[in-house]
Amino acid sequence: MKIHNFYAGPSILPDYTIENTAKAIHNFAGTGLSIMEISHRSKEFIAVVDEAVALFKELLQIPEGYSVLFLGGGASTQFAMVPFNLLNKKAAYLNTGVWAKKAIKEAKMLGNTEVVASSEDKNFNYIPKGFTIPTDADYFHITTNNTIYGTEIKFDMDSPVPLVADMSSDIFSRPVDISKYALIYGGAQKNLAPAGVTFVIIRNDILGKVNRVIPTMLNYQTHIEGESMFNTPPVLPIFAALQTLKWLKNNGGIENMQKVNIKKAGLLYSEIDRNPMFKATVTDQEDRSLMNICFVMNNGFEDKEKAFFEFATSKGMIGIKGHRSVGGFRASTYNALPIESVQALIDTMKEFESLNQ
Ligand SMILES: *Cc1c(COP(=O)(O)O)cnc(C)c1O
Repeated sequence: MKIHNFYAGPSILPDYTIENTAKAIHNFAGTGLSIMEISHRSKEFIAVVDEAVALFKELLQIPEGYSVLFLGGGASTQFAMVPFNLLNKKAAYLNTGVWAKKAIKEAKMLGNTEVVASSEDKNFNYIPKGFTIPTDADYFHITTNNTIYGTEIKFDMDSPVPLVADMSSDIFSRPVDISKYALIYGGAQKNLAPAGVTFVIIRNDILGKVNRVIPTMLNYQTHIEGESMFNTPPVLPIFAALQTLKWLKNNGGIENMQKVNIKKAGLLYSEIDRNPMFKATVTDQEDRSLMNICFVMNNGFEDKEKAFFEFATSKGMIGIKGHRSVGGFRASTYNALPIESVQALIDTMKEFESLNQ
């Protein structure tokens, strides 16, 4: 039976990434050594980092004046690094879910933090609108894709202060106007690489404006100067990330990914909206994520949740259980998920409907 991988993260990667990484585990770049047993300062590995940085810049059209970093610690460490490096007088945050709240918690430890707007009143099933970003903030932090709730900010907003974005689960899913952001970060394990590497895209001129002492490893300047080699970087995940970047380039780049992602998400949301047994948790079309599609049993069918989960599992649908704070189901439709998997899930939902008539 074909397995369809809808896990939210770590999650599906292109076959290309997995095959090339498997080969490099045995013999990396013709060295006769595994990628797991070579020096991060070897010329072969430095070439991997250089190419990965170059492809980040090319695929995302990153303007001059920005650095691309590959760090450890996950997006969760960025929650602290951002205020450590940028928060002087005041930080501003948009509260769109658990990840945003965790970021806010870290900022509050370091200084005055204003939550500009929140969607917590409705369990984060929408993106707040009509808020004003305070002009006296050092930066404004957003989470562009809310992996748990299936909401997404699918445009690049204007901000009067430096804009900082957690793009863990939607990086490379759509073209981004990088010039609108001062800093973008994310864990790679959603749409890029295996867990272990964190990417940071940072405009160099936003640094050096805070008075506090910053621990060496938490200081972006350390990693900019060290070119992601200040300490041992996550060698294998960076190698895998490079494979995904090459795959992106060979498959029409981010513009094509966006096209396919719109198509995949469109098909699945249409079925959720059509099928009387299910309903989407995010009703505002504009806020619906293209990456994580959340749905629950419709009114009157609540008792069928377990049955659908078991039925879908029997059809090869893996990882569709919703996050415990939302319940129901979540189908993650990252770049590497083929449209056939979306179609298979739709067929499963239709079949479940006909069995329950
Ligand atoms: C998964 C996720 C995180 C946490 O990432 P870690 O690398 O596990 O720290 C943060 N933000 C978003 C939006 C996520 O999806």
